[in-house]
Amino acid sequence: MSQTQLYLDDTYLFNSQSQVLTHGEDEFGAWLALKENIFHPQGGGQPADTGWINDIPVKIRRHISGLVAVYPQEAIQYDNDTRLTALLSAPERLRNAALHTAGHLLNCELHQYGWVARSGHHFPGEARVEFTMQGAGAVLSEDLPVDKISENIIKKLRHGAKVSAWMEGETRLTLIENTVPIACGGTHVENINQIGGFLIKAVKFKKDVLRISYDAEYAIP
Ligand SMILES: [Zn+2]
Repeated sequence: MSQTQLYLDDTYLFNSQSQVLTHGEDEFGAWLALKENIFHPQGGGQPADTGWINDIPVKIRRHISGLVAVYPQEAIQYDNDTRLTALLSAPERLRNAALHTAGHLLNCELHQYGWVARSGHHFPGEARVEFTMQGAGAVLSEDLPVDKISENIIKKLRHGAKVSAWMEGETRLTLIENTVPIACGGTHVENINQIGGFLIKAVKFKKDVLRISYDAEYAIP
């Protein structure tokens, strides 16, 4: 049973109609999986979309089978031929994509100082990337030119760069123009000029991990 993951191809697809692929019940309640799925489940540091099916609120989760499942808050009536209408919160999707894509940029920027990202958390209000040292030549956290890093990123955002994604076998690669591809299953803005309000909020170093907290938002260029 295969489910088409439309969210991987188009961050800006906020609604669609689809038949149900399969359904079931688990510890989170009754669920169904659409054949064509627009919802991003929580994962890779990004929160799940807020969504509705036929106007009924749904929780979105990655089911144990690997399918993206929706858990309706009320029963939804359908049969095999019914095309259900899926809708997601566009402002939240765009905000999450902007925050997450900004995390990639932060990672690209920190490479030159000898730091490599090991994890990201891109929830609104608490976005951060955690880095570990790449070799002995890394610039110590207290010597990092935080203002310069911020300015460079803001300059890049204003200048703009395309963001693309493609599959290589089972791996999805993402590329911000003029950087190196990164394996990632998240949602990204199509150009970094759609990210505004970038701000480094805090830099902390503890137990060999550098944590940079930041904020960013979706901005119409
Ligand atoms: Zn990503």
